[in-house]
Amino acid sequence: MELLCQLAKSTTANVLVFAGKIAEIESSAFALADMSPYSCLGFGVPAVLFVTPIICSFSVSVKEWILTLAFFPTEIRLLLTLGPYSLLHPYLFRYKSSTRVRSEAQKKLRRLLKWVESNNDFYSEYWLKHTLTPGEILLKDLPIVTKDDLRKGTDSGKILSHGYRNEKNGFWISTSGSTGVPLRIFSLWSEYAISIWYAQRDLFMVSGIWGGWFCRGAWIMWHEGHSNNWWLVFKSMFLIESKGSHVDSLSSFKPDFVYSPLSNALGLASCLRENPSLLKTWTPPRALFTDSELSSKAQRNWISDSIKCPVYDMYASEECFILGAECAFGKHHIPTDSVIVEIVDDEGNVVPSGNVGRVIVTNLHRRSMPLIRYEIGDMAVVGNDECACGNPFPYFTEIHGRMNDRFVLPSGKDISVYQLCAFTEISLELEKHIGRWQVVQVDRYNIEIRVTTRKDKHNSENERQVRARHAGEKLLKAVKNALSDNSLQLRVIVSSELPRHPRGKLRNFVSNVKL
Ligand SMILES: [Zn+2]
Repeated sequence: MELLCQLAKSTTANVLVFAGKIAEIESSAFALADMSPYSCLGFGVPAVLFVTPIICSFSVSVKEWILTLAFFPTEIRLLLTLGPYSLLHPYLFRYKSSTRVRSEAQKKLRRLLKWVESNNDFYSEYWLKHTLTPGEILLKDLPIVTKDDLRKGTDSGKILSHGYRNEKNGFWISTSGSTGVPLRIFSLWSEYAISIWYAQRDLFMVSGIWGGWFCRGAWIMWHEGHSNNWWLVFKSMFLIESKGSHVDSLSSFKPDFVYSPLSNALGLASCLRENPSLLKTWTPPRALFTDSELSSKAQRNWISDSIKCPVYDMYASEECFILGAECAFGKHHIPTDSVIVEIVDDEGNVVPSGNVGRVIVTNLHRRSMPLIRYEIGDMAVVGNDECACGNPFPYFTEIHGRMNDRFVLPSGKDISVYQLCAFTEISLELEKHIGRWQVVQVDRYNIEIRVTTRKDKHNSENERQVRARHAGEKLLKAVKNALSDNSLQLRVIVSSELPRHPRGKLRNFVSNVKL
């Protein structure tokens, strides 16, 4: 390894040959990239001027292959395959007016729609079936695509565009969703890389961490598989979601920012709150970003107070990455240079801003498997005025969460996760007595408050059970008040573990009643 590092620092070494088992080669390459991350910068300028245009004229496979060469620094791989303009472009958006941002997004959209019409069989047939008029395609005239439609397209093989059907150029992810039927989404390595690049820009833009390309980030994932392809862009620390157990790892890694599911952030916060001695070795990150579960402002403030840094909420999905990045003014900005969001009613008509509706997304970076007017399954509200933070992107004012997780009351009224979150101030007090909690609507008349005991050394199992049940009863009372429907039956169930979503996710609100 020492020899490799010397070679990397040498300007005369042109070729590095790795030998051994695949795992060993990979670890050597990663270690090398970590130890001498910018040793290839001398190669960067001529590469951008001469090599990038040549590579860009190569076939898809060559570009994608170059992107997977992990022993080159990420920036060099991205520069070579995507070009400097693609990398700088998202960062320049911050300084444009909202009108300019809107018109550039429309241009990008028009180019994409035109391309998809002639290169993707699934969409061209689907649009034709819905009597699309030839000529200029307008987004609002196109039919909405559901998860079921996409599944059919994937089964028939038509969903992959012409020239992008070599699966070795990318990978499939499965977003199984709350319906339980998996939806498979294909991404080229380059599409994935550029999406992460834009997502990183979104984090930095709202939090003000500029110069962030070289920041150290700690990414907390729901499960192992999540982090499989992140090495494409980031040299960071990856951890798997675990309630409160990452204080030590984060204290020693000292990341500039932490990206974490809400439950892990709550665990981290309560751990630091209960053990003030840990704060001696705790270096607060510059920002913490939460995602995966809806959270209330009260929850985010509580986390912020505990971990001593600002907390921003991210509304993200596996298919499109960041859909809304929360700014200091509590608005979730929509990066319209990578995703177009529409809010529609049950008939599919766009609703005026300020009204709640279904979220429809169009991803502007996907060509291998396009997502055009794709119904993501959430409900939200968008705002109209410009945000005081100066960010030119439009924004969500409310994110209501998954349509399928709405609680349907005996009266017929339905309550979204956003409305249910309102009582979480009470649940914060209970964090120290409960391990995890989940509110499940089992059927129209029955709601279960499921809580797990908190694993602390100071109390016996019996005491832990009593504390968890007592806290569960308090939570029950809060849920009952929030729902205010006397025909509902609520009960507390204390267990040692809660069932997780197939992809490892733990949801606080689950409804088995469909509208
Ligand atoms: Zn803002």
